Amino acid sequence: MLEEIVGLFFPRKCIFCNEKINERYTCRKCLNIIEYYKERLETPDDAYYDKLICAIKYNGNLRTRMLKFKFDSVKYFARGFADILFEKMVKYDVNADLIIPVPISKKRYRERGYNQSELIVKYLSKLTKIDYNRNVLIKSKNNLKQSRLPEEQRKENVKDVYSIKNTEAIIGKNIILVDDICTTGSTVNECSKVLKNSGANRVIVLSVMYTNLRRAKL
Ligand SMILES: [Zn+2]
Repeated sequence: MLEEIVGLFFPRKCIFCNEKINERYTCRKCLNIIEYYKERLETPDDAYYDKLICAIKYNGNLRTRMLKFKFDSVKYFARGFADILFEKMVKYDVNADLIIPVPISKKRYRERGYNQSELIVKYLSKLTKIDYNRNVLIKSKNNLKQSRLPEEQRKENVKDVYSIKNTEAIIGKNIILVDDICTTGSTVNECSKVLKNSGANRVIVLSVMYTNLRRAKL
């Protein structure tokens, strides 16, 4: 409601090109020209998720926006990234009972002031009308930053750092797990493992971006 009133005085602009638009936060033109990630990531034998969809490559203009979003508090980009994920959901006919963000630790939350994936999930929930829950999957231990580690250490680094707070919320549920950038998939796989072990029926991972290890170094 408030958003609609504000919209009368401040017309919406596309998050990526600043064109005036009437609905959502990314214009049709941008959604059409975005370089979507086309290759399919292989699902490894030890994968706990049922499907992993990465929307776009981590490069160019959108990479810059992701960095601003993640590290410079430009929170409204979340709406544009949610638009991009929504495009993918429509294309691949993805549906679920619940959307859950990849959590960050309390320590990181205090430093950053927000969980970037949670902001995306909020808008994605609005677009899809699927409920979201940010309190069910939590990061209960601090670990080293994945982006600083070589591939062979990433799996070990995320082991046992996530836990479930409210098992009842996920038993038998089909879940969409949202991440911002996916590299080796260790983080989303560990989260999926915890969700599945606590009774989740299906886990589909939606990541805004994909990058290989070489480019991921920030
Ligand atoms: Zn645009």
